[in-house]
Amino acid sequence: MTDKYCVIGNPIAHSKSPDIHAAFAAATGQDIAYKRQLAPLDGFADTVRDLVAQGYRGANVTVPFKLEAAALATRLEERARLAGAVNTLRFDGGEIVGDNTDGPGLVADIVRNAGVPLAGKRILLLGAGGAARGVILPFLREKPEAIVIANRTRATADALVAHFADHVAYPGQIAACGFTDIRGSFDVVVNATSASLSADLPPVPASAFRQGALALDMMYGKKPTPFMAFAAKHGATVRDGLGMLVEQAAEAFAIWRGVRPDTASVLARMRAAS
Ligand code: NDP
Repeated sequence: MTDKYCVIGNPIAHSKSPDIHAAFAAATGQDIAYKRQLAPLDGFADTVRDLVAQGYRGANVTVPFKLEAAALATRLEERARLAGAVNTLRFDGGEIVGDNTDGPGLVADIVRNAGVPLAGKRILLLGAGGAARGVILPFLREKPEAIVIANRTRATADALVAHFADHVAYPGQIAACGFTDIRGSFDVVVNATSASLSADLPPVPASAFRQGALALDMMYGKKPTPFMAFAAKHGATVRDGLGMLVEQAAEAFAIWRGVRPDTASVLARMRAAS
């Protein structure tokens, strides 16, 4: 019997997840159906209950329901608990298990696809919202020298440093600052602010990009973002968030199906189509 999955969001028509999962299913020979599911803004929990009743096996969750999904889950994996957000639900005999594959997806894209190992590296994370929060534990597991979280609202970055204090290898491995206090240079700079959505450049200094640094914007689309253009101008290798999107989907597929699909061909096809 075909196992059913979907991606829940509002809006949802733009989601590329059905195409990605269809490609994974074809490549791995898994018998699944995956569709877009619009949920009313005040109806996420009812939508999930409906899906469970219809025999769905799991769902991805996107804007604006990731926090609600964490609250609704009857069990949370550690990385989802620490992120405080869920992008992957697994329906398992009465349990709703919540996980977060955004961070592991970003790490897979940087390490495997871009070929940049993170051990011993200095990482600058711009932004302290949901996406930033989800990547900190996966980053720490790669044993970087330092993660500096720079945010417009400094207090939110400070709160994230405190939140992950028990997971650092040594004091000072994570630090917080405001944009105007960014000091030193970095091997990897990740734009996890939503500034690119409004075509704004987060105020990162050019000196933050070490020679040959990787600059990754979580946003993806047709054109390079202002952040990508600025980073490229200052000597960085740039990458958008499409690889992260495909890799987080592969992690979710692996959770549901027990097989991790190859992502290279899917990413190449999506890049050609975008
Ligand atoms: P949130 O709304 O949770 O957080 C937004 C963050 O951006 C906050 O830190 C906020 O700072 C900061 N910010 C907003 N506007 C500006 C600005 N003009 N200048 C500087 N900082 C700003 O958003 P998310 O964390 O959920 O998403 C962030 C980005 O990541 C989005 O572009 C989203 O599309 C992308 N994303 C991509 C994914 C992928 O698979 N590729 C997956 C998930 C997210 P403050 O605290 O001061 O308000």
